[in-house]
Amino acid sequence: MAETQAERLAKELTMEPKNALLKADDDTLSKALDFAEGYKAFLDNAKTEREAVKETIKAAEEKGFKEFEYGKVYNAGDKVYINNRGKSIALCVIGKEAVEKGVNISAAHIDSPRLDLKPNPLYEEIELALFKTHYYGGIKKYQWTAIPLALHGVFALKDGTVKEVSIGENENEPKFVINDLLPHLAQEQSKRTLNEGIKGEELNVLIGSHPFKDDKGSNLVKLNILKILNEKYGIVEEDFLSAELEIVPAFKACDIGFDRSLVGAYGQDDRVCAYPALKAILDVEAPEKTAVAILADKEEVGSMGNTGLDSDFLRYVIGDLAKMQNGDGTIAIRNSKCLSADVNAGLDPTFQDVMERRNASRLNYGVVVTKYTGARGKSGTSDASAEYMAYIRKLLDDNNIFWQSGELGRVDLGGGGTVAQFIANLGIDVVDLGVPVLSMHAPFETTSKLDIYMCYKAMYEFMK
Ligand code: MN
Ligand code: MN
Repeated sequence: MAETQAERLAKELTMEPKNALLKADDDTLSKALDFAEGYKAFLDNAKTEREAVKETIKAAEEKGFKEFEYGKVYNAGDKVYINNRGKSIALCVIGKEAVEKGVNISAAHIDSPRLDLKPNPLYEEIELALFKTHYYGGIKKYQWTAIPLALHGVFALKDGTVKEVSIGENENEPKFVINDLLPHLAQEQSKRTLNEGIKGEELNVLIGSHPFKDDKGSNLVKLNILKILNEKYGIVEEDFLSAELEIVPAFKACDIGFDRSLVGAYGQDDRVCAYPALKAILDVEAPEKTAVAILADKEEVGSMGNTGLDSDFLRYVIGDLAKMQNGDGTIAIRNSKCLSADVNAGLDPTFQDVMERRNASRLNYGVVVTKYTGARGKSGTSDASAEYMAYIRKLLDDNNIFWQSGELGRVDLGGGGTVAQFIANLGIDVVDLGVPVLSMHAPFETTSKLDIYMCYKAMYEFMK
């Protein structure tokens, strides 16, 4: 049957988003599946920002990256990294053009919502030993009870040594848990709002029950825990005061679904963009413009502090690169472009009401470009310009990258922000691009393998 005029016009004029799994060829699909294998391994090896930096350095050095030396001159094609306190990192591939002409930046974050131990965390109650925690980032507190937990982080001792801790990840290692009330006795608890179902001070982690055997003394369970920690790490209770210890889910990353099309794991916000950013910069060889991938800390608490992107870290990175060529850092920044790689909320079949369908991102529809974030009347937003959106659209379309446009939920319902605003504040053109996630900020988040691979392709084409 011949095409009607309306059908022809509709094809020419209207936009019809389509599931990318229906558009992708076999080669793309198999690359997406392969990519997910490396991604899952990265998730298991990098559950905290410190571990993500370590994994990044390991992978980067294998690809010829060297630690940046201030004052040394690097040439086109040289690869360097700048490690910011072991918690955030910038990877740079020097371009053929002068840095002053601008650099292409991919920025993602490697911190995730979790429970930090308080400075004085260890106590005993009714002959059980527990840790007090202080949650980090936006969590639904009730989700963190009755699941296996692991402990990661460091003790920094007064003599300068740093003891690394990771317990609960291997099969033969013990895990930890936050206990919840049994339903039989939860009548009063059930009347609380969901937000208060478990309160911050109820997020207490069970860490042991075996008392040190002695006729005298009190708090013998706690004492026994301290004895174990002392034997293992050489620490005493006071050393918790100079520690950064994080409680994270002990789950491993895995495939989700009979068809294995999805990934389930803790910490996908934002390692689902950090890993593609890392892989992309590792694959960049001798680009025209200098490429910079920055993996930042502290996004989940507002990007504050000297490892967050509200610091001068990125400014110094670009400034140092420009200076090395006797160029001007400020001019370099003004000429730079950025993809702020962070997740967006995917449309959840069970909770569709929180989204406005025409502007919601969906799993398997490709990498999601989010023109603006913010809350209510775009408060706190970084709103990408029409011109920059056009540049990014062309880049994605010219390289056959499946992508979609998205917004973070219905107007008036909530909102959120990313590192984009801090990069925009420097005077850099920036837009958010990332992967749609279900159960964002939960101990176990869901993403699509094809979307993850498209995120990698977008960042590679942007930086190469
Ligand atoms: Mn994020
Ligand atoms: Mn987040």
